[in-house]
Amino acid sequence: MCGIVGYIGDGESLPVLLTGLKALEYRGYDSAGVAIFSRGAVKEKKSLGRINVLEAATKGGDFSGSTGIAHTRWATHGVPSEANAHPHRDCGRRVFVVHNGIIENYRELKEYLIGRGHKFLSETDTESVAHLIEDFLKDGRDFKDALFAALKMIKGAYALALVDSNDPEKLYAARLSSPLVVGVGAGEYFLASDPSALIGRTKDIIYLKDGEVAVVRRDNIEIVNFENVPTPYEIIKLEWNLEEAQKGKYPHFMLKEIFEGPEVVRAAFRGRINAKDGAVKLGGLELIPEKLKGIKRLVIAACGTSYYAGLIGEYFFEEIADIPVEVQFASEFRYRREPFDPGTAVLAVSQSGETADTLAALRKAKENGLLTLGIVNVVGSTIARETDAGIYNHAGPEIGVASTKAFLSQVTCLLLMALYLAKDKTGQSALLRELENIPGKIEKILAQAPLIEKLSEKYQDSQNFLFLGRRYNYPTALEGALKLKEVSYIHAEGCGAGEMKHGPLAMIGPDFPTLAIAPQNGISDKINSNLEEIKARRGPIVAIATENDESLGSLASDLIRVPATLEPLEPLLTVIPLQLFAYYAGVKKGYDVDKPRNLAKSVTVE
Ligand code: GLU
Repeated sequence: MCGIVGYIGDGESLPVLLTGLKALEYRGYDSAGVAIFSRGAVKEKKSLGRINVLEAATKGGDFSGSTGIAHTRWATHGVPSEANAHPHRDCGRRVFVVHNGIIENYRELKEYLIGRGHKFLSETDTESVAHLIEDFLKDGRDFKDALFAALKMIKGAYALALVDSNDPEKLYAARLSSPLVVGVGAGEYFLASDPSALIGRTKDIIYLKDGEVAVVRRDNIEIVNFENVPTPYEIIKLEWNLEEAQKGKYPHFMLKEIFEGPEVVRAAFRGRINAKDGAVKLGGLELIPEKLKGIKRLVIAACGTSYYAGLIGEYFFEEIADIPVEVQFASEFRYRREPFDPGTAVLAVSQSGETADTLAALRKAKENGLLTLGIVNVVGSTIARETDAGIYNHAGPEIGVASTKAFLSQVTCLLLMALYLAKDKTGQSALLRELENIPGKIEKILAQAPLIEKLSEKYQDSQNFLFLGRRYNYPTALEGALKLKEVSYIHAEGCGAGEMKHGPLAMIGPDFPTLAIAPQNGISDKINSNLEEIKARRGPIVAIATENDESLGSLASDLIRVPATLEPLEPLLTVIPLQLFAYYAGVKKGYDVDKPRNLAKSVTVE
């Protein structure tokens, strides 16, 4: 949720820390701060609100130095305030720490430490870490030993970055259940909550694993476990480039990412399919052919938009690969007691690869001896590392908090995985040939952005929206409703069109518009009858209809046209107008659609 950046090297740390924090802004935060070793002492600055405020407060050269840590805070313990902003420190101004996560036993620690004479300056759980290390330093231990001793007492989830004011030649980092990466440069090292903070600085990334401590000097790094035993690590090459992480000509990341749709679908299937032969090749799954053959049932565990992509995946796996599927919210799966058959595999879907609930679901699956698979965008992330096998999205960084391009990419990857696992390959060639047409068809929908903008303006005073769809478009309707809620704060509900008459229809009236996903397919007649019921209650209908389909003209108040495609591929087209509709609704209301209130991008706490 919050952001951590650290720097040690030959250069100035402040610009690295500030640009890194800005790149992490999308994760959400309420305050920010830096601590830099400058001219013989550690100087800190904290401010409430935006990073620009911190930037202004650190201008003027006082913060010149080449060792530093910085933080954007997402308050969990104590109100957002300057005093509660990180970095936190001990009484003797030796230990400076920034923290992402929660120290669960901070009350006991704080009480114990106050009893030993420590004075606390904030209400945070984090501050106890600094005092605890100080306490162990009093025993005559060196900093690293004191850190190990403290980590052994701390319960909870953390990514920590620390500076010892007695030794500016080192940075310390520790991780348990909250992400933290090390960037490797020439004569410099970086710390960051996620690699997007380091784009433009380095492409060489080390993902710290749970239970590891890194001691970083400007020219070398040592990674050990809490027992001080060195642990092996791998340097991963980041594929992302600076351009991908910038808005370019677009006013918002969300719009840019929606417009990346065609490329994102292409990137997901590029090099993986041969439409002529109907063949799909997924390198990430090739190592475990026997295990894949043994899959009798699949549980897809995911959260938010990834969960809705998973619901579409359920149709793919059942209808294409003949594998029974259950899709579960990862947050429910992890606490649910269910009997597992050894033929069950769990597929974790997560853009960041760090989603705390999805990771916990994955670990539960492993504890139960189940095969685990993943669909993840961020290369080398924890979920990617911990699954037995999986495929990457290759969608590039997604910066907008509300997921758009990742959804498209996940749906494409789920389709490829289902095709790969299918024993009967009949019909695959036709599906793959049409998949190759999808990017061009998405372009055609994107060209209608001005029309969709007008429509969202027409309905901007609506307080509520119903989203309807059936079969493949039922999860798409759920995703459309989620998008509208996330960025425009309009209440929206997604519903299977056939379910509507069992309850939601009661809400329908002239002030309660419906967005119906109604492309022409085998179930069109049914959805049209559902829309008749809405029309009879004078509910306005915006329908997503296939080009040249005249059957909806008399039912819908407004139409958005999408090109015809095969039914399983429909969500890749029909979700685009929904994303645009939500985007324009949010913008018209003046909201920051890239950073919706109360939301964070990668949800790394429960
Ligand atoms: N629990 C800490 C606090 O409230 C850290 C929160 C965060 O991850 O930003 O200060």
